[in-house]
Amino acid sequence: MKHAAAATAVDMLIVGAGFAGLYMLHKARRMGLDALVVEAAPSVGGTWYHNRYPGARVDIQSMEYSFSFDETLQQEWKWSERYAPQAELLRYANHVADRFGLRDGIHLSTRIAGAHFDEAARRWTVRTESGQSWSARFLVMASGPLSSPNLPDFAGLKEFAGPVYHTADWPHEPVDFSGLRVGIVGTGSSAVQAIPQIAQQARELTVFQRTAAYAAPAHNGPLDQEFEARIKADYAGFRARNRRMHGGFGSALPPNPVSALAVSAEAREAAFEQRWKIGGFALLGAFNDLLLNEQSNALAAQFVRDKIRAIVKDPETARRLSPTHTIGCKRLCVDSGYYDTFNRPNVRLVDISRQPIERFTASGLQSGAGHFEFDALVLATGFDAMTGTLMRLDLRGRGGLPIKEKWHAGPLNYLGLTIAGFPNLFNIAGPGSTSAFTNVVVAIEQHVDWIADCIAHLDAHGLATVEATESAEAAWAEHVNAAARRTVFLSCNSWYLGANIPGKPRMFMPLAGGFPQYAERCAQVARNGYEGFVLA
Ligand SMILES: Cc1cc2nc3c(=O)[nH]c(=O)nc-3n(C[C@H](O)[C@H](O)[C@H](O)COP(=O)(O)OP(=O)(O)OC[C@H]3O[C@@H](n4cnc5c(N)ncnc54)[C@H](O)[C@@H]3O)c2cc1C
Repeated sequence: MKHAAAATAVDMLIVGAGFAGLYMLHKARRMGLDALVVEAAPSVGGTWYHNRYPGARVDIQSMEYSFSFDETLQQEWKWSERYAPQAELLRYANHVADRFGLRDGIHLSTRIAGAHFDEAARRWTVRTESGQSWSARFLVMASGPLSSPNLPDFAGLKEFAGPVYHTADWPHEPVDFSGLRVGIVGTGSSAVQAIPQIAQQARELTVFQRTAAYAAPAHNGPLDQEFEARIKADYAGFRARNRRMHGGFGSALPPNPVSALAVSAEAREAAFEQRWKIGGFALLGAFNDLLLNEQSNALAAQFVRDKIRAIVKDPETARRLSPTHTIGCKRLCVDSGYYDTFNRPNVRLVDISRQPIERFTASGLQSGAGHFEFDALVLATGFDAMTGTLMRLDLRGRGGLPIKEKWHAGPLNYLGLTIAGFPNLFNIAGPGSTSAFTNVVVAIEQHVDWIADCIAHLDAHGLATVEATESAEAAWAEHVNAAARRTVFLSCNSWYLGANIPGKPRMFMPLAGGFPQYAERCAQVARNGYEGFVLA
């Protein structure tokens, strides 16, 4: 990459205008930094701009999945539903951009192609795909943990004559499936939300499933006004209590502090049932060891399988829909009528675990089980999670080291926030942090605040750069591994492990150690003068 003479100098360049980029820009401006955001999409909103498939909505309650940094913002915004739909979350992101006057600092429809660290200048030279460039002291990757859609290399996909939609890249004009035969590949979180909606419209829906999903009912509905008023009466207190929870949410219903193995079968069933009625992630808090102990986990898994058998009338379909892996090992799906959808006469389930897709044809797809015909195809095939977006960039640190080389065996980092050899680069909600196991907005706020404090520390001490040491990074990798080993998360093939992407190194990417412990560790590092970093 050329060091373009025309590169505009800024203090901070932020990649991405999702929740992370918006808050980072606001915070940087409040510190007096000359900061700007570069966003590939023509709008702010990130996840909630791109993922507009039918049924897309948040799986953390709206009153929690929102910014806490401004009391007036959280008081004035009104959510309509318990779990906000995509369109409302996108309106919220736009409201934040307007309310804090951020738009003039955001370059939309502009994709970053790469960034090189210039060791002499101690600055990042950042280049867009169209050749525009900036020279930035700080580079903040707010480019999203789930922002690179995974499109498997299916043979013959181009031959399929009908329209093909990816859930993470959904068209902006309405898609009408009325009267059509639709095929959907994938049964992860997005598919679990989309399938009930598409089934209501399509003439026929064929669901191609590789791995069955655990889903707990959302029991979504209009936001309870009395609940909203109670939270808003002490929103700051509610947020603080949530930040003390393992996943940064759910303080209104803390986990039951006993093991699933310590109670009678009747008491256990009653606890699961009570949590199932509440909905969402409440189920995983029915006991304190469901994600730590395989025996306890198996009891929760059986409870959900029993529910599936009770909901789905055809025993063979119920059997195929019943997952056999540990529950919670992949993020639990939060659904609205998912299992029940398979009782509809226009919906059928095709198991592609043992008879995989061989190829697409002009009229459908061929698997070991036969040829299946449809008019439109939906790919709900997820993301190259946590690392995909950075690995697609020409991102080079000290000595021109490409990130692809640095991360060839897995995403080495320190605190999830920084990378040795990549000074003054911060990665928000990425691998090595608890973000994937949290209410991500809470994780984003903690990251942005930490970055801001770090920069303030540098400036207060007349320092130019902050860079993680390789030894701190190695110790952090062991810390992340050790935390995963204490849980059930290593027991299945998930995107946490990179298992959904052929050839991706198997490394457990998110930190399973709990948000409060993680946040305290980050704070402690700062209190101790940024131990594990070289400040220069
Ligand atoms: C369908 C779906 C549902 C989700 N539901 C929940 C939920 O219920 N609860 C929860 O906690 N989390 C959820 N998440 C996770 C979600 O990603 C985070 O909650 C949060 O929105 C992440 O915000 P972000 O700003 O870090 O990243 P994003 O919102 O992903 O924003 C990143 C932005 O960076 C841009 N970008 C990337 N690369 C470049 C580049 N090279 N140049 C310029 N711009 C670039 C992208 O276009 C994108 O707009 C969900 C994710 C998905 C995909």
